[in-house]
Formats: sequence, structure tokens, C-alpha cells
Amino acid sequence: MAEAGVRTTCPYCGVGCGLRGEATADRSLRITPDHQHPANQGRICSKGAALGETTGLEGRLLHPAIGDRAVSWRRAIDHVARRFKRTIDKHGPDSVAFYVSGQLLTEDYYAANKLMKGFIGSGNIDTNSRLCMASAVAAHTQAFGGDYVPGCYEDIDLADLVVMSGHNAAWTHPVLYRRMEAARARGQRHVVIDPRRTETADAADIHLPLAPQTDVRLWNGLLADLIRRGAADRIWIADHVAGFDTVLASLAAADQSHSAIAADCGVDEDLLRRFYTLFAETPRTVSLFSMGANQSAQGVAKGLAILNAHLATGRIGKPGACPFSITGQPNAMGGREVGGLASTLAAHMGFTDENSDRVKRFWSSPTIARNPGLKAVDMFEAIHDGRIKAVWIMATNPVVSLPNATRVREALRRCPLVVVSDCMAETDTTAFAHVKLPALAWGEKDGTVTNSERRISRQRALFPAPGLARADWKIIADVAQAMGHIDAFAWRNAADIFREYARLTAYENTGRLLDLSSLIGLTDAGYETLEPTQWPMRAGRGVARLFADGRFSTPDGRARMIAVEPKGPADPVNLRYPLSLNTGRIRDQWHTMTRTALAPGLSRHIPEPYVEIHPLDAAPAGIVDGRLTCVETSRGEAVVVARVSDRQRRGSIFMPMHWTDAFAPSGRANTTTSGAVDPISGQPEFKHTPARVYGYRETWAGFYISRAPVSTPADIPVIWRRIPQASAHLHEFAGRGSAGEREQLARIVLKGASGECLRFEDAAAQSRREAWIVDGRLERIFFTGARLPPREWLVAAFQEETVSDETRRFLLHGRAPGGRLDTSPIVCACACVTTQAILAAIGSGARTLDAVGDATRAGVTCGSCRPALQQMINATQPEEKRDAA
Ligand code: SF4
Repeated sequence: MAEAGVRTTCPYCGVGCGLRGEATADRSLRITPDHQHPANQGRICSKGAALGETTGLEGRLLHPAIGDRAVSWRRAIDHVARRFKRTIDKHGPDSVAFYVSGQLLTEDYYAANKLMKGFIGSGNIDTNSRLCMASAVAAHTQAFGGDYVPGCYEDIDLADLVVMSGHNAAWTHPVLYRRMEAARARGQRHVVIDPRRTETADAADIHLPLAPQTDVRLWNGLLADLIRRGAADRIWIADHVAGFDTVLASLAAADQSHSAIAADCGVDEDLLRRFYTLFAETPRTVSLFSMGANQSAQGVAKGLAILNAHLATGRIGKPGACPFSITGQPNAMGGREVGGLASTLAAHMGFTDENSDRVKRFWSSPTIARNPGLKAVDMFEAIHDGRIKAVWIMATNPVVSLPNATRVREALRRCPLVVVSDCMAETDTTAFAHVKLPALAWGEKDGTVTNSERRISRQRALFPAPGLARADWKIIADVAQAMGHIDAFAWRNAADIFREYARLTAYENTGRLLDLSSLIGLTDAGYETLEPTQWPMRAGRGVARLFADGRFSTPDGRARMIAVEPKGPADPVNLRYPLSLNTGRIRDQWHTMTRTALAPGLSRHIPEPYVEIHPLDAAPAGIVDGRLTCVETSRGEAVVVARVSDRQRRGSIFMPMHWTDAFAPSGRANTTTSGAVDPISGQPEFKHTPARVYGYRETWAGFYISRAPVSTPADIPVIWRRIPQASAHLHEFAGRGSAGEREQLARIVLKGASGECLRFEDAAAQSRREAWIVDGRLERIFFTGARLPPREWLVAAFQEETVSDETRRFLLHGRAPGGRLDTSPIVCACACVTTQAILAAIGSGARTLDAVGDATRAGVTCGSCRPALQQMINATQPEEKRDAA
């Protein structure tokens, strides 16, 4: 039976799943996985499945604005063009910058890169992809002669061993992980190298919880071990690799015994030996590496150490064998391809005079960038110190996502011109915009994206453009034309841009693998129906696996093995800051939550920002599970809820990076993160910042539930978090001040409250409870005091169209009449199944994933929670049974 809906691509992670969307006139959307898309083959994860809840117009930016004034497009475009032009005329092309995003489509990226590098003449365009995979780009370029991801997802299916280095695939790339689970059923083995015992690590055959920033030591040790065992493929090396002897000599400079490596990496020696043996004995090995490896001051070295192990064993270009960098964003690869990174020119060409002349010729441009521009962190430093005087930020939220976020705010506050194009009106970054330009969102845009396996897929429009929103490429082209570059930006549609980009990849191409010449002749109709296609293309077909013939893109065709030395953290822990802070992602949120927070179900898995800490680190610092905790570094402080768990390595703590001013101003991880970057890739060290923790010790706490969210009560120093709910917003508050502070907060949040008020107050207990009802409907709830009830029943009461008499009687108790309420955390976001319900099913005899699914519906829709379910099943089995399994 034919599948219904428009075929498109998920806007979240780099897996790049194909989806089908059936839209209705009221902008609701039914999302199903596309069974024909090779990336997901009919699978979908919780984030993708919830996309239909995120396509409303709530919070959208729908009109151009200068300052607070809505203006016409003509006015906004003229203003931006004039101000950029004036700045360039006065201070030169390097006084302006674009900061763009892996959320842009390839066509948007192409337009932005062309304007900056070819018509403004500066290299100052960088992308937030710098934050997730720039180290892998640099490692690929050094080893292979170009930024080439050698493998494909089929290799992951075919591998007998998958090594995940700093990669919590079960949470960050769930559909890829489900492919690995399927391969595991036929005997595939998994090794996870990660300081944290993540769900991916829990399920693995071997988990190596290494000490922070010791990856290079571990991988160098593996290479030394492979050579010692005679597992290096000397014939393949002789034919296809340069640099082996240099690497060999550098390895000899350190003690490569198992005991020395295990001690340096802080891992069990027996586990280390088992990993090395498994790797040596398994020719079909895929080594996945992602943010955990890349986000480091030695990210490039980590990537090279992984590539070295594969080059030394010839495990590349063969089915089921390759090193494989997995990208975070839906179009990080597309950005890399067109030249969205400041360190590349265009279409995979680097900054040489020959390339600059070639691209200038192709574009017929008046000028051309001849040197790399400023990378993300340096770019915002240059804004801070005034070298950059005008910045255009597209589809990203650097105030939240960049390290040392407080300095980024200062930089934007000082910048004479900040232009932001975004689909959302209120983000932490639009707050600093002098000009806001409304862009199309996912579901409205039309163009292409490239996933982690070099597969180009179409994102298609499901809804008409709302308000005055426009495609990013169109906004860029309009500004370029207003700056006087009429013909070069006279595209009619995205297909025109794609054809031009394809022509550039083929232009004077004497060896670049990125060559889309087969797609140059695409008609508009052909672009519309373009099937997912891998590059490079040969005879009109995509090539799945690179380097199958052992020839690389270096001048002599040999890959380069490059000696890398373990260096340890850029900024070691010390007496004042004895813990290593690691930041990362959670299963059901995406980046800065601007989209995923619109789907309340996605906030039920992990509702609040938290810090995970080992019990033996928590106890001496007085940290109690579930209580507010301060995380302090030399950069700043965050206040979040403690999760005390032995999943965390001793000496390390973890905080997720998603929360923003809009949801938890005190829970922003990047106010605390290190400013260290990799010297080659410029990628920030998000995985290690020296930190300390201590209890926040609030004197009072409360919560407020309302139909509309409250904005930041900036004038009182309270800690607050907003958690979106199905029909309301739950705000949690805490403070260290007196009763006056609590009363001040009550005045702020209850300002303008009207209707009937049910009230209870006990001054001695400092307890105040209010419920406001308007026309029979619950509008606001405000509770403070020492003994606060669980929030679930009160939140659910907001779903009643008219408050029933029974609900009304119990509102100020805050508890359901009779019966116990299940307040345990949600595990399955799709079917809203709680921990308690799953444990009950397991207790009743459901001891397999299928049985738990039959009993509760958990894990049967997208499967993102299956690792968590398996853990719960395992935890209830007797030890011996688990060992046998
Ligand atoms: S794994 Fe999930 S988030 Fe990633 S592309 Fe697929 S559906 Fe989207």
C-alpha cells in the first residue's frame, strides 16, 4: 500500500531520517517514518515522532523588525544592506561576520557563503557545526586529504564490532542505535568509551569509563597493542599509507604496557585488555566517534588516533569496517560541503590562491576571500573587542550554545549591529538583535540536507509560509542584491541554487571527491522528486563507501598516519575546582529547546536541568539527591537539581546543555564551560571544565502553574525553571531570601490575576496556596511552603474545561481525592508510560522488551526508551541470570 504524506527529512540529528508529513489546514501534522528512506528504513525516534506538536505558530517571528518596530521587508533589507555596506566601506570586509547553523539548508548555506566569501570578500562566516564536529573535519583532512566520511550506515549493520567513542548513541542518534540493536541480535559486539555509564554504555559488552581527556592515550595504546600482536596490516600499510614509521617511533617514546595505559586512563586493566583483544580479532570493526571525542582541546588528536588504528589495520573502505564520525545536526555535513566553516573556502576547496581564483572565476565575483576567517569562539571574541562591528546570526542561538556564554552576551551587547534571522521571536539571542528577520521553519522550508553518511535528502514544505516569513536563502539573496550584487543572486528558487552549487562542485574538478556533476541538469521537477542520494556519484549512482581501492585524496594517493601525543586536559582540576565538568545532551531535547519544548511530552522524560554526581563526591560536598545544587567554575555558576548516581565517574560531573533563559536562567550549562579550544579545529572543550559543587540551601520553595508562561522575574534573585505541560506551564521557584522575597515573587506572578480565588494561608508555617478560576476554568495555581504536594494532579486539572466540584474541593490540598497518584518519571515519551507502571509490569512477570511493550505500550512506537527498559528489566533479574545473559 502506498504510504501517505509528503516525504521530507527530520530537522534534528545527523542520522537524517526520512519522514512523511500529512498536514491539515489548521497546521496540525501527522508524522510517520518514511519506509523508503535508506537512513531509517521505517524507524523514528521520540523527537521525530513529536514533530507534529511543534508546527504551531506559538512564539513565531512573523514580521521583520528594527528595534521593537515591525517594518516592511523592503525597509528591513535596505537597512541591513546599508549598515553592512557602510561598515565594510569604513572598516574593511573583515569587520563583518555571519554566524550560521547546521539547521540551515544547503541552499541557504551556499547563499550565505557566496555573499561573505565572494562578494564581501572575507572568510568571516562560521557555523555552529564548529561546536560539534570541526575536530573530525580537521582529522579527516589531515589523514585523507579532504573532509571525507569514509563509511555508510550499512557498514554499521555489517560490522561485527562497533566501538563508540564519546558517543551516547542510544540518546543522541536513537535510530542509528536501533540499527545497531538489530545487528546485535545476530552477534555484533559493542564497546563504549565514555566517562559516564550512559544507557549506551549500560547495554555494551565492554564499557571503558576513562578519565577525562585520556582518549588519545587509550587509542595510541590500542595501536601499540595491534602492532605488538602483529595485527597491523603491513602489506596494506606499505601500499596505501604514509607516516607509519613516524607514528611507530612516537609510540615507542611512552610506556605502552596495558598496566601503564590502564593506570593513565583510569580504567580496569582487564577490561582494557579485553577491548584490545576484541579489536585485534575483529576485522569488521566500525569506530563511531562524536561530540565526546570532538568537543575537546585535543579533539583533532583524538580523531587522528582513531583513524590511525583503522589505517594501520586496513579497516577502511571495506564493508563493515571504517572509522565513522557521526554529526550532531541535520545539515552539519551540507554546511561543511558548501564551505560554511570559516576554515574552508567553498565546495570542499581549501584556501589556496588557486582555489580562490577558481571560485572567483566561477562566481564572477568582484573579490574573494583568500584566508580563513575567524572560527566561532574567536569570532565572538572579535565582536567583544570591537574588531567585528556587524554580525548576522542565522538560525542559531549562540548566547546559549557557545562556551563562556556570559562573555557572548557582553559581546552582542557591545556590537553596533546585530542582525538575527530566526523563526522564533524570543530567544536568548534575539534579545540582543537590532534587526530581526523572520525565517521559515522546518515544515515550511524547501531544499536539501546531507546526513552523516553523505546522503543528500530533500526537506520539503508541508505548510505555506506564515506571516511574512521567508526562506533564509531568499533573505540573503535580497540583502546581497540590495548591496548591489544583482545578477549573482538572482535565483528564482532553491532548485536554481542547488544546480549552481552542483556546477561549482564539478568546476575544474581534477580530483575532488565532492562532485555533483550528475545533478547539474536537474530540472525543477527533478529537484522536486529528488530521491535520497549519496555523494560522490559515479555514472549517476551514489557511492556508499569511500577509499575502497585504497587511494586517498592526497597528492600521492596515500592516507597519512599522524603521530599524536596524549596531553591531558587543557585546564586540569585543582584544589579549588576538584571536579571535571562534562556537558552534553539528553534523549528528548534538541539543542536550545526552541522547538522540542513546544512538545510538552518531550519534557516529561527529564523535566529540569540537573547535575549528575557520584555518591562519593556528593556526600562530602553535602549534596543531596533531588536538591538544588550550585555548580561553580572559574567562568560562572549554575544552580540545578542534583542527581546522585554511580553512573557518573568519581571526580566527574555532568550537566545537559539545553536549558536557556526562557526555561531555566540559572540552569544554563554554558555559563560555566571552559573557553579552551582545540588549536587546529577551534572546537571548544565542552567535555572538561574544572568545577566544584555545593548545596544551594534554599530558605523557601514554591511553584506556580498558569496557562501562559511568566517571563523572568529578573529583579529578584530567585531560582526558577519552566516546564511546559499539556495545557499549562509549571514554574518551580526557590530562593534564599526572607518571606519578603517570596511575597515579592507572588506579586510578580499573580499580577493581573482576576476571577474567583480560593486561598489558604498559614503565616506560621510560611505556607500560602491560591487557586484562581475564571469562567469555571482553572487559570493559575500558586503554592509556597515547606511541604509542597506533587505537581502532577494540579497540572492535570488544567485540562478540565470546567473545574469539577470534586477537583475544586481538593485544589488547595494539591492532591487527587482518594487513590495514589503515579508521580514517577516518564520513561516512554511516546506512550507516556511511567517508571512505576513499567516496574509494575516487570513485577507481574513481563521480563522481555516485547512483554513490557505488550503490557504497557512502552517502547513499541519509536523505541528510544528501549535501552532504559532493558536496564530496568536487567535490574530486576538475579545476578547470576544477568551474568548468563
Ligand atoms: S534519529 Fe530521531 S532525531 Fe535523529 S533524524 Fe531520526 S527521527 Fe530525527
